[in-house]
Amino acid sequence: MTNSLFSDLGIAEPICRALSAENYATPTPIQSQAIPLLLAGRDLLGIAQTGTGKTAAFVLPILQRLAAEPVQGARAIRALILAPTRELALQIGERVQAYGRHLGLRHTVILGGVGQGPQVKALGSGVDILIATPGRLLDLLGQRHVRLDKVSHLVLDEADRMLDMGFIRDVRRIVAALPKTRQSLLFSATMPNDVAKLAHDMLRDPARVE
Ligand code: AMP
Repeated sequence: MTNSLFSDLGIAEPICRALSAENYATPTPIQSQAIPLLLAGRDLLGIAQTGTGKTAAFVLPILQRLAAEPVQGARAIRALILAPTRELALQIGERVQAYGRHLGLRHTVILGGVGQGPQVKALGSGVDILIATPGRLLDLLGQRHVRLDKVSHLVLDEADRMLDMGFIRDVRRIVAALPKTRQSLLFSATMPNDVAKLAHDMLRDPARVE
């Protein structure tokens, strides 16, 4: 079965096939709005709560863009997805796995509260997509276990919760370590001042979807 509605948005066949296996018949409103903009390379400010389908709205275009890019040399982190909590990071990792199952990209999730050994090992074997909570990522960056100099796609998910949990400074430090030329996305359910400022500093001419 082909997934014609996702393909109408520009999503490629191997991803549509994975979506059919997930029984996704129609894109949600945020997916319909965001996917074409993101495939075209735009930055995005998404005002969206969990349950709207926002994860697929950013994961699908990133998977497609990475799969289409020629890679020279060793595998390097090209997409960085930051999440405020372990649970959310793990959920995003699970979605990346499901939607990307036919693409041959590699991802890993790094988060605090567990030993760093297996995470360092996973990073060392090469990943295309890194999903992380900010504290542990900064630790590993400080120890030079992570290189972010090839990141071309950045997602900050649940930015208002990052703020509530006191992670905004960590996030700013991480963003400062990334190449300036990249596609950046910020999702937040609410838009307090500090999040609006971060969006302003982090995004370039963003499209806005609500
Ligand atoms: P999210 O808002 O990203 O946390 O997604 C909420 C839930 O909706 C998750 O369980 C997704 O697997 C599911 N979902 C996302 N997009 C679709 C879709 N187009 N059709 C059916 N289910 C979806």
